[in-house]
Amino acid sequence: MEGALTARDKVGVQDFVLLDAYTSESAFVDNLRKRFSENLIYTYIGTLLVSVNPYQELGIYTMNQMELYQGVNFFELPPHVYAIADNAYRMMCSELNNHFILISGESGAGKTEASKKILQYFAVTCPMTESLQIARDRLLLSNPVLEAFGNAKTLRNDNSSRFGKYMDIQFDFQGIPVGGHIISYLIEKSRVVYQNQGERNFHIFYQLLAGGEAERLAYLGLERDPQLYKYLSQGHCAKELSTNDKNDWKTVCNAFSVIDFTEGDLENLFGIIASVLHLGNVCFQEDDQGCAAIPDTHEIKWIAKLLGVYPSVLLEALTHRKIEAKTEQVICPLTLELSVYARDAMAKAVYGRTFTWLVNKINSSLVNKDCTQKTVIGLLDIYGFEVFDKNGFEQFCINYCNEKLQQLLIERTLKAEQAEYETEGIEWEPIQYFNNKIICDLVEERHKGIISILDEECIRPGPATDLSFLEKLEEKVGFLEKNNDLLYRHLKEVLCRCQNSILRECFLVAELENRRRPPTVGTQFKNSLSSLLEILISKEPSYIRCIKPNERKEPSKFDDFLVRHQIKYLGLMEHLRVRRAGFAYRRKYEHFLQRYKSLCPDTWPHWHGPPGEGVERLIKYIGYKPEEYKLGKTKIFIRFPRTLFATEDAFEF
Ligand code: ATP
Ligand code: MG
Repeated sequence: MEGALTARDKVGVQDFVLLDAYTSESAFVDNLRKRFSENLIYTYIGTLLVSVNPYQELGIYTMNQMELYQGVNFFELPPHVYAIADNAYRMMCSELNNHFILISGESGAGKTEASKKILQYFAVTCPMTESLQIARDRLLLSNPVLEAFGNAKTLRNDNSSRFGKYMDIQFDFQGIPVGGHIISYLIEKSRVVYQNQGERNFHIFYQLLAGGEAERLAYLGLERDPQLYKYLSQGHCAKELSTNDKNDWKTVCNAFSVIDFTEGDLENLFGIIASVLHLGNVCFQEDDQGCAAIPDTHEIKWIAKLLGVYPSVLLEALTHRKIEAKTEQVICPLTLELSVYARDAMAKAVYGRTFTWLVNKINSSLVNKDCTQKTVIGLLDIYGFEVFDKNGFEQFCINYCNEKLQQLLIERTLKAEQAEYETEGIEWEPIQYFNNKIICDLVEERHKGIISILDEECIRPGPATDLSFLEKLEEKVGFLEKNNDLLYRHLKEVLCRCQNSILRECFLVAELENRRRPPTVGTQFKNSLSSLLEILISKEPSYIRCIKPNERKEPSKFDDFLVRHQIKYLGLMEHLRVRRAGFAYRRKYEHFLQRYKSLCPDTWPHWHGPPGEGVERLIKYIGYKPEEYKLGKTKIFIRFPRTLFATEDAFEF
């Protein structure tokens, strides 16, 4: 049927491996666009799933869909996030090994939604006993709590995750989800004290004000209007999601009760949240000597009450600094500027550590002690590469993390390819690819890497400034302060000795006795990243790459330029090349035969011999040339997509 539009022309191919012009970026974008316009948001590159955010409900996450994908062979159905989840689950159950699913992409691309869909899929489709329902519910409800404290409205995403998250879902030998464990990475603490135009602080603040019961707010000394709080109103959009805030508050409260938070925990927790808001409203004035003073102590009194400290002690700690000389302590007043810095440092430290406490608390409710034999599926929802007009320390850490994960992906994919060719007894042809080890070394190498140099600058005596750091790096952004992340000792003492039991767990007195400098943020990040990689390396990987189709959060808009850019830095072309370098397509003899047996009289309607021989007969009959394929021990490998297309077409007509 020459000239007619085939299904392939209209909706594209569902696996990029089957693209004829597989090295062309334009062909890649074309394929994604065609599929997107048909509301087909998922496409494979082999076993990697590419997902384009539809920005609309497509009705593809129904119970029926979940049932459809359950236990079905990966390539038998159209690409879907459920297929990825199901495949990992089946493999885990049959081989009793651990897996992870890495979800990456830029802000707003749909990572968190994808991870939630996967979790829901397991919650609905996995076997379940009555006694383990609570474990399942806690796994599901950990999400709204962490989102309330760790997500915020940004320009790119109304529900942007401001922390990286790795979550293990643990299964027993029957494949029942029995527990979990969460690790969080690099919560964006600076947001607690400052937000850009059009952005908000973390959701929980607004949720508490919008939804909190009147008595609770009165007890915390809070007013309902978020615009009264400096830490909530700098982005000038405090009220933008207010209807959500009210409903989300209910969801969060319900989640708290399921995850085992006591009324006492909540009182302490919201005491901290309220204190942060009061802290933001503390104003300083300069006295005659140029020192900072707090003329109105209204806020100080509230913080003192909520955290259980003496108001005078807090007041002094916010305006003075303790300097330890050899035998004595000297107390010096702070300038106005340093007091503001101390106040903000306190708010950030308190919030940051409370977030960590929250994660630990959730973890203790997800622990399952009764079950000994466990396998896990880890879900990694991690910020993708970020390149803004102005890039700071956070972008540095995030992009470094992505380089490391990319390294892992390429190495694992290559290794998997190689291993498959070996087990199938097929000759291995080495593949050329870009190894980003040099980039990772640049960041992390001991003594020579950027993080080492940065740390040196932070501990160097004398004035260390970004400039002195820059002389070594020839870069320019505000790194030093963020890497250092110092909380004055004086304030730390106040927090270590306060009555609020959550904060007492967060600020241990032992820390005061430890004279060694705590590791810097950069070094901590490097260490937590290397332990993450250790976690991942022992597990079987699946990958989801999320793409944002436009900057306006709109459905049905596909911005070629933007998409092309993401394809590039997500390394998708590279991945496709690696996947394609050997054989574009491979399939078990049984499945190949099942699908195409009707094309050959020897195999139709039944072939009774070994499937490998059947396939050999079949392809001889339809005329495959020797350079087009290889036969392994259990699978046929086809080098070019066109060979398969010809077979498919012969089969259709
Ligand atoms: P960030 O890095 O900022 O956390 P993200 O990649 O996690 O971004 P999400 O929060 O998952 O992005 O998605 C942003 C928004 O896009 C969601 O709030 C939702 O409105 C929409 N969205 C994402 N994925 C889907 C989907 N599969 N179907 C429908 N809407 C979606
Ligand atoms: Mg997210």
